[in-house]
Amino acid sequence: MAKKVAKKATPRKKPPLELHGSCGCGSVTFTVKGPVNDVVWCHCSKCQRFHGGPGAYASAPRGAIVFERRDGLSWWDASPTAQRGFCRQCGSSLFFSDSNEPTLSICPGAFTAPTGLKSRAHIFMGDKPDWYQVKDGLPQHAAY
Ligand SMILES: [Zn+2]
Ligand SMILES: [Zn+2]
Repeated sequence: MAKKVAKKATPRKKPPLELHGSCGCGSVTFTVKGPVNDVVWCHCSKCQRFHGGPGAYASAPRGAIVFERRDGLSWWDASPTAQRGFCRQCGSSLFFSDSNEPTLSICPGAFTAPTGLKSRAHIFMGDKPDWYQVKDGLPQHAAY
């Protein structure tokens, strides 16, 4: 067993400066250059349909996202201002884009772990279905 080194300062765990993401089949791969915003869980009915459950979203400035592969990427016009990005080969949910927002929302399940991200809030709790409960102590908002 290695000798323990006492008094050695533990370096503070910093979030990675870039995160890599991929769909399930690899037809969409991307890198986010720079910090990624922590995760918000959305419980609205539209996310329930798209994800088959609540939607988890990290986010980053649009210009920080660089695609290595995007030949599987399709966008569904979910509303006049919102688009949902997914892989048309494997069906992975990947992105949510609102043209009013400077950031792109990214489904954090696409990221290679460890991400250094945390969950920070729940939104659209007023739409949450009855088949699960949220008891993690994070802030909950009825709408946005
Ligand atoms: Zn795919
Ligand atoms: Zn939603």
